[in-house]
Amino acid sequence: MSNEKRSPGAGDTASEPMQQPRYTGIPTFMRVPHTPELEGLDIALIGVPFDGGVTNRTGARHGPREIRNQSSLMRRINQATGICPYDLVNVADIGDAIVSSPFNLEASLDEIETFFDRVHGAGVVPLSAGGDHSVTLPIMRAIGRDRPVGMVHFDAHCDTGDDYLGSKFHHGAPFRRAVEIGVLDPERTVQIGIRGGVNDAGIWQFSHDSGMRVIYMDELYSIGIKAAVDEARRIVGSGPVYVSFDVDGLDPVYAPGTGTPEIGGFTSHEAQMMLRGLQGLNLIGGDVVEVAPPFDQSGYTALTGATMMFEILCVLADAVARRR
Ligand code: MN
Ligand code: MN
Repeated sequence: MSNEKRSPGAGDTASEPMQQPRYTGIPTFMRVPHTPELEGLDIALIGVPFDGGVTNRTGARHGPREIRNQSSLMRRINQATGICPYDLVNVADIGDAIVSSPFNLEASLDEIETFFDRVHGAGVVPLSAGGDHSVTLPIMRAIGRDRPVGMVHFDAHCDTGDDYLGSKFHHGAPFRRAVEIGVLDPERTVQIGIRGGVNDAGIWQFSHDSGMRVIYMDELYSIGIKAAVDEARRIVGSGPVYVSFDVDGLDPVYAPGTGTPEIGGFTSHEAQMMLRGLQGLNLIGGDVVEVAPPFDQSGYTALTGATMMFEILCVLADAVARRR
């Protein structure tokens, strides 16, 4: 680990993008430096511009670019927690996990896995912006290879469905597939914000049968945010934990720009409180997925996605620093 911070903010050179006015320059996530180099890096911010796994409205492939743009509104310090991730660890935007054959879903997921294999193999913690939720499966295949990971999952949907239109792989099934291949530990998985109508009453039965803890939206409202955080912490315990944040977990009032919106979700502040509540867990990666700019007329969903990414970055940086 290099003592010299590559991250912006601490230095004063004109080459550091965070020192520049926030409306200038080529946008990277959070205005951190862009570099493909993994050496000396602690956390890599990564775009995964792929939405070949959506079952309905496409558009999340445009998520990373717009989240990068809106993330120029982020600042250095989390005022609520006092965490400045750039003072704790080295952070860079290493670019996109680009897929060369996007018309081939399974080959695309393999390519994404190969990208994350390289990141994980270098000992770098990934924080990604999707893309649709199918991209979390190849990320988990890379980082859960050594041992299954636990997960705190925010979403309107459990994403533990089965085959759809003849495909095992789509954004409604990544966590069923991840459990089946042993990269996700269902008994250390909690899913928060689940709601909405279904066509099949048993669509999320796999979550229950495999031992995941599902906190439906009604329960979240009745027990409250703090109790949900306590429950999530109890479920995932001290083992490695991945955070997956589907923006459709938020009420569409806060995140209209997404492919599968469901009314009756949590607020953006409730999401921030839940993410901050993960501080101290053994966090090993995260993502924000399903931001779909074509449905995001105000750019507000991308701003919200960027802010959630910053919240995850704060607790992730804290976890990386604690593990040293
Ligand atoms: Mn999802
Ligand atoms: Mn969803």
